[in-house]
Amino acid sequence: MDIDLADLRAHPSSDVFEEVLAEVADDVRELVGVGEVADYIPALARVPADRFGMAVADLHGDLHTVGEADRPFSIQSISKVFSLILATQRFEGDLWDRVGREPSGDPFNSLVQLEHECGVPRNPFINAGAIVIADVLSSCLADPLGELVALVSELAGAEIPIDGEVARSEASTGYRNRSLANLMKAFGNIQGEPDDVLDIYFAQCALTMSARQLATALRFLANDGVDPASGHRVLDVEKARRINALMLTCGTYDAAGEFAFRVGIPCKSGVGGGIVGVIPHHLTACAWSPALDRTGNSVAGRAAIEQLVERTGLSVF
Ligand code: GLU
Repeated sequence: MDIDLADLRAHPSSDVFEEVLAEVADDVRELVGVGEVADYIPALARVPADRFGMAVADLHGDLHTVGEADRPFSIQSISKVFSLILATQRFEGDLWDRVGREPSGDPFNSLVQLEHECGVPRNPFINAGAIVIADVLSSCLADPLGELVALVSELAGAEIPIDGEVARSEASTGYRNRSLANLMKAFGNIQGEPDDVLDIYFAQCALTMSARQLATALRFLANDGVDPASGHRVLDVEKARRINALMLTCGTYDAAGEFAFRVGIPCKSGVGGGIVGVIPHHLTACAWSPALDRTGNSVAGRAAIEQLVERTGLSVF
């Protein structure tokens, strides 16, 4: 179809999104199932690879979907955005003394930089950084996991569950994450007991949400920190911008440069196959397809976000 881009930019809630999404689903059809489902967490290895769903939340509070946008999946690393939001809201110390703001250029579970950089992770979106954020949350909240689930549920407008089987499965095989936590403890950058902090981290990664719920929950990032449906301010404008900046530079592991080059919007991915993308002042999108490339990003999910940007002409640049 011919899309009137000027109209789309002027009226982001226009029905055009439904048509754009149908075309995007068509564009990526051949990529659905290409790649490998994450199998280092045994419970995730059972997820069928040939799934695809996508949702777009616009600034009028409307949702547009295609495919299996209501099928819940394991959000994995996308949970790192929510834990950072909670820490940004509630922690009164300087978070950035404990975790950096630079892309890592290394895989999400790498130990290499931590040794050289004295236990301070490069950013909050690699595993080491998210484990530090889990420690920060346990130091300032009586029930960090309960508060995190409450925040995610409030933002999504639905009760969001933790899949206990996925959390246990990861806990029983999470040797790298244990190494990261113990190394950071040795450097004094974890205050709690590493196993207690990891319990929170594994549970947050096992939050289970649909593409629709993720697009809904993070739509405030496209609207300067305010939920466009309720008018509720989740974060002040500077903090919302900074989360977007971190998503752009660090949200897709060691493929962040490639994502910025090809997709060009803030994104956060997870090894459950989800990718959330934000186009500030326009929309938040979530694409899900479980088969991953070797950097841990969904093949069809990335292509879908890329096509959405391409077809709408919306961008941060
Ligand atoms: N729970 C996963 C891990 O720690 C998260 C990784 C991801 O989604 O990138 O390995």
